[in-house]
Amino acid sequence: MRIPIFSDLLDLFFPRECPACRNLFQEESLICSTCLNALDDQRLRAATVNILEMPVLSAYAYAWPLDRIIPAAKSKNQPRLFDPLVRGMVASLREAELEDYPQTIVPVPLHPSRRRERGYDQAFHLSRAVGRMLDLPVQRRVLRRTRITPPQKTETRERRLEALHDAFSPGREASLVSDLRVLLIDDVVTTGATLSAAVQALQSASPAGILCLTAARTEKIRIDPEGPEKDY
Ligand SMILES: [Zn+2]
Repeated sequence: MRIPIFSDLLDLFFPRECPACRNLFQEESLICSTCLNALDDQRLRAATVNILEMPVLSAYAYAWPLDRIIPAAKSKNQPRLFDPLVRGMVASLREAELEDYPQTIVPVPLHPSRRRERGYDQAFHLSRAVGRMLDLPVQRRVLRRTRITPPQKTETRERRLEALHDAFSPGREASLVSDLRVLLIDDVVTTGATLSAAVQALQSASPAGILCLTAARTEKIRIDPEGPEKDY
């Protein structure tokens, strides 16, 4: 018989509140099983899509329950809430049947002041987990965030593109990705503006190619090139 350790006892007396549905539950996971199942239903099966002329792979639709889980992970300093998404990200990459597999991972960096505020950098957290599963190195000093940008909810894509211009610059280890196929990782793609700015800065390091991978993609994003641009 397994002897219960202190955290097991805590779970026994203090059931967790699910960050998505707010119901109390007593399971080992950080999210209740109902919401974990709902998360599976939000897996995006589509192959790589083009956003602002960049190839982007996303694992999940940014909808229930992710629209609760991700804000909770960010505002409550709970990086582990991102962990259930990693398997989907790796599966998306495998399902994409790429001709050339990425050789190294670069996270889209947070500005240091925002990282201090949040307690961690979510793109780096995801990158490390994906890197461990795929046995790929994670290069944290290839990109540098040089400017704080406004929260994306209130901004149109055009405004964000403008605001993000020069928001990133090559970091002191940028040469590490020269001639390599880079997997650029972020948590959510909303308008594509952040990824686009990061890709621009990354290109000056002369990688052999860049593929973007995000945990989630908002449903309103405009995907190239199908017909006239519209939100859907
Ligand atoms: Zn739940």
